[in-house]
Amino acid sequence: MPVRILSVCFIFMLVSQLSCSQKSDPFFALRNRMVETQIKARGISDEKVLQAFRNLERHKFVLPQYIPHAYADSPLPIDEGQTISQPYIVAFMTDALDLQRTDKVLEIGTGSGYQAAILAELCDSVFTIEIFEKLGRKARELFDELGYENIYTKIGDGFKGWPEHAPFDAIIVTAAPSDIPEPLKMQLAEGGRMIIPVGGDAVQELVLLKKRKGKLREESVLPVRFVPLIDPEGKKY
Ligand code: SAH
Repeated sequence: MPVRILSVCFIFMLVSQLSCSQKSDPFFALRNRMVETQIKARGISDEKVLQAFRNLERHKFVLPQYIPHAYADSPLPIDEGQTISQPYIVAFMTDALDLQRTDKVLEIGTGSGYQAAILAELCDSVFTIEIFEKLGRKARELFDELGYENIYTKIGDGFKGWPEHAPFDAIIVTAAPSDIPEPLKMQLAEGGRMIIPVGGDAVQELVLLKKRKGKLREESVLPVRFVPLIDPEGKKY
């Protein structure tokens, strides 16, 4: 009998906690719908990845005027003429990296910080580089506010990677160069995966690379459109 009472109490506590978190987060339903209709419906099925998108409050990563559109099926403008990627693209790239809990990940293009926070939910540590100081600082403040102790940030040119912390189990580039930067290829660990948009301003392909026995195998996985990867003078790489 006491066991039964205990389990009834437990279920009651669970339900009241759930409804409490739903009440304190008016975006809860929108976020679940985003995961169902934009991510799961398009073929992403890894439950760990889906759960990260259900948990992370995307509306905290967008500019105040775009909060009502935070869960829309599109990219949104952020400061410095840059963009936070469409949720599906963030999910597709995350899924392609096939992350393990113990992985160390390098991200080029911190932007709003949304992609970095999704990664941080799924791996050991994230090293993320942003070329615009304003964006890099703002993302760092948000990571601190949200309690991400496994995200390391740097303001600088990500083309060169972050050699002091290499090799990385996974590398994700969220701005497009014309060719894959050599330093990033070098900083990928044996068995590592890299996902990167490659191409000109109009047409780009998302390329997935895997390093096996020191050799890189490349595969184009999706046509995409990203902002350009730029050098410190603002010229596209
Ligand atoms: N991952 C981001 C997407 C931001 S868009 C997010 O989740 O919001 C791509 C970002 O790459 C922009 O913020 C842009 O400023 C940055 N970027 C462009 N060239 C770069 C470079 N050479 N090094 C680091 N960041 C760069």
